[in-house]
Amino acid sequence: MQELKDNLKNCIYPRLESGGEVSRFSAMKRLPELKSRNRKFPALSDKVEVSQSSHQKRELFSTGEIGAGDILGIEKPVASVLEKEFIRTNCWNCLITLKAPYGCPLCSAVKFCSKDCLREACSTYHPSECLLTDIILSNRVESWHLALRAVGSKPLSQILQVGSRTSGRNGASGLSSSGDLNALLNLDLPLRTESVEEMKKRSIMAVFYLIILQMTGYFDTTEDVGKLNPSLSSIQQMKGKENDSTLSEPELHVATLLEKIIRATSSCSTEICHFEMGGEEEWTTGKVTPVLGRSINPTLAMVPHSCYPTAARVCHANQTLLIAQKNMKAGERVTINYTAPFYAASRSHRKEFLYTGFNLSCECEACRQDWDLFDNLPPGPQGLSDQDFHLKGFKMVEFGNPGKLQVEGFTATERSIVEAFSKVRSKLDQLQCSIVCSGPPSKVMIQNQVRLFRCLLAMYSSKLFIIKTEYGKLSIPV
Ligand SMILES: [Zn+2]
Ligand SMILES: [Zn+2]
Ligand SMILES: [Zn+2]
Repeated sequence: MQELKDNLKNCIYPRLESGGEVSRFSAMKRLPELKSRNRKFPALSDKVEVSQSSHQKRELFSTGEIGAGDILGIEKPVASVLEKEFIRTNCWNCLITLKAPYGCPLCSAVKFCSKDCLREACSTYHPSECLLTDIILSNRVESWHLALRAVGSKPLSQILQVGSRTSGRNGASGLSSSGDLNALLNLDLPLRTESVEEMKKRSIMAVFYLIILQMTGYFDTTEDVGKLNPSLSSIQQMKGKENDSTLSEPELHVATLLEKIIRATSSCSTEICHFEMGGEEEWTTGKVTPVLGRSINPTLAMVPHSCYPTAARVCHANQTLLIAQKNMKAGERVTINYTAPFYAASRSHRKEFLYTGFNLSCECEACRQDWDLFDNLPPGPQGLSDQDFHLKGFKMVEFGNPGKLQVEGFTATERSIVEAFSKVRSKLDQLQCSIVCSGPPSKVMIQNQVRLFRCLLAMYSSKLFIIKTEYGKLSIPV
């Protein structure tokens, strides 16, 4: 047991003289930061304001000029979990495809992509799941496991502050240690009518997660360091508490919190897919992975849906970015897509999905006017046809002026992505200037927005893992 503990200590606190591991995410070192934040919602940029409409619904608006590709929000999810099917192939912490996996020294159930991810997991949530992963996964209900993860990620001392008045914001840097969970609990969740069965199911799962936390010694200490608690001590604990069915004050607090988070997961969790590139040289090929997992983003969960959205979410390692998909003027709505965009799915399909999935009936322009699918859209303005842009065309000439983007220090591949991004963006500028009347966008506009999104995925999403792909044509929305 001592040996195991020593191993663990080494992996939680790896020796610094090793020089640190080179990050798998070459873009991570340049991960953008929000220069100026929204005062009330630090995960958002001050280019965005949040307002509450008459129907108690939150809306986001731009406060000034926003350029396509601008970062409007960066949020580290309260919790994210990997889908069971990917447990052998993807990182348990950041969800990317594994190349040379690192395992937990105590359990072999889960794998990590790097020492960084292993360290992060072991110093936060993994101690409250270690050796019990199988039980947790086999008793999974939807993505409720997110609740256990959210609580287990923070030490008890912080969790006990959730919901208290003193746990407000902590300076300009962002939220306090428990502020993200407070933000989640303060969201106006859509009201649903629930059956008694549903409520019962939720309570049972909250108790189940509470027992897991008890078993792994979560309540034993309020120290701020992660601890990996071998099941040995948990068995002893359980024996000691055999006849004790009363809950302590902290246990009751946690149980209530678990139930509340479970309730929030249905409307605040996001599916996570990653974009994986074809290879170093072939970044224009690659594919979006299936749904790898889910995460809870309390602030970004407020961004409303539109079938022709102005922004998009991109998952970068274990952060979520909100990025503008078009140039916006002050007062324009900031929206994202919860389903397929209007040009890829018919109105009736979207309607059905939005209603069953989100209890939502969309009133966006594309829905009101029933815009056509991609094939029937107007081709685009004369002289701005799409012929000069083929898939390989990203590597073309005329990259003399990369615009506002800083290109130095990038690898050749990254440079080609940035140059393509710059070119697509100037094309979008031209296209947006040429719009004279309202109505559906042209084919060439959609094609360039899809390209822009692919550039964003290539720049910010997990990447550089070689996989075979069938991806071919750009007219298919990613
Ligand atoms: Zn990882
Ligand atoms: Zn473990
Ligand atoms: Zn719509």
